[in-house]
Parts: sequence; structure tokens; C-alpha cells
Amino acid sequence: MIDAKEVADRVAHVRSEISNAGGSEVSLIAVTKSFGIDALRAAAAAGCEGVGENYAQELLEKVRDGLALIDVHFIGALQSNKVRPLAGHVALWQSVDRESVVDELGRRAPGASILIQVDTTQEPSKGGVAPELLDALRMRAESAGLIVKGLMTIGPTDGTPQDCEKSFEILRRLVNEHGLSVCSMGMSADYRIAVACGSTMVRVGSGLFGDRVRVSP
Ligand SMILES: *Cc1c(COP(=O)(O)O)cnc(C)c1O
Repeated sequence: MIDAKEVADRVAHVRSEISNAGGSEVSLIAVTKSFGIDALRAAAAAGCEGVGENYAQELLEKVRDGLALIDVHFIGALQSNKVRPLAGHVALWQSVDRESVVDELGRRAPGASILIQVDTTQEPSKGGVAPELLDALRMRAESAGLIVKGLMTIGPTDGTPQDCEKSFEILRRLVNEHGLSVCSMGMSADYRIAVACGSTMVRVGSGLFGDRVRVSP
């Protein structure tokens, strides 16, 4: 069960840590995957700028349950066949990393705002376009009528602070080179480092709602 008061306290804590790390105007996206609609309500009540969802089915169930409370960001591995059902429910597509998804978004969600997910760790299973292929994917997205607001990355799993910095510095540099505004990086374990490296959007789940219970798909 989600305790809205406790979530509000944790949001306040994360905001103060962000400011201690030198961040100002950093959006806090509450990652609500595996938690129910009460988590979305608590995030909205606590003033989070959006919620992040990873799974199409789960997101659609929450939409059905009356979710028009807060902007929903799609942050999970994105397959092109999931674009159509999700279109209209997603305020920001954070995990766009391949041509097939760009093309489908252009068809099903013309004018949608996206972030391009970049691979900054070379860890398998993380997703993200290789930095050297970013230019081409961005051009394709813009020709498809999508609005590229910025870039997103997932830092190393169990990385040292130095590993995290390396990954986040790559993303910040690419955001600057492309003259973009949104730099989405930092999760519960590493958002302080990400903010110190110039994040403008952190995605925090367990740090707000506690541990997720793993359910097999
Ligand atoms: C699950 C997830 C998060 C949040 O992870 P926590 O460690 O719970 O903060 C952030 N970003 C992405 C892409 C995720 O899949």
C-alpha cells in the first residue's frame, strides 16, 4: 500500500538532495511501474512533474482506471507494435532508440514529443542508440514530424561513482552538442551524481515508493 504522506516526504527529500547536488529546475519523474494507481495519485499530489511507466499493458490499465492526473512518460523498452495502443496516453516518449519505432511514432503519433535513448554504458539489455548513430536517428525523427526534446540514458548497473560519471558526462555532452534542452538521467541509486553532471530530469522509483515486488511477465 502506498502512503501518500510518506511519498510526499520522500519527494521533498529527493528535491533537497537534487538541490544539494547543484541542481535547479530538475524535473522529478516518479517511476510507478509495478505500483498501482494510488502511486500515481500520490506522485501527483506531491507535485512530481510526471510519472514513468515501462510496460504498455500496465500503463493502459492505469489509464482505464481513471488516470488523467499527471503526465505519463513511457520509459520502457519500446516495440513498434506498442506505439499504436499507447498513442494519445503518453506525454513524453523517453525511450526511442531505433528507426522502426521512430517511423511508427511518425505514423501513429505525429507531432509527439520524444527523447532519444542513448547507450552510454555498452551493457547488453539496456537499449539505446549508439552515440555515433544519434545524428541519423534524430534527423529521421524530425523528418517524421516528431519533436526531439532531448536525450535519455540509463547509467551503469552496480557501477562505481566514476562509472556513473563517465556515462552521464557522455549524455550531457551529446545534449549540448545537439543544442537540446532535456537531459534525462539519474535513478534512485545515482540521481545525485546525474544531477551533478547536468541532468535536467531524474526518474526515481524505489526511492519514492520502496522496493518493487518482481512479477514474472
Ligand atoms: C525502473 C526505471 C527507473 C527507476 O528505477 P529506480 O531504481 O527504482 O529508481 C528509471 N528509469 C528507467 C528507464 C527504469 O526502467
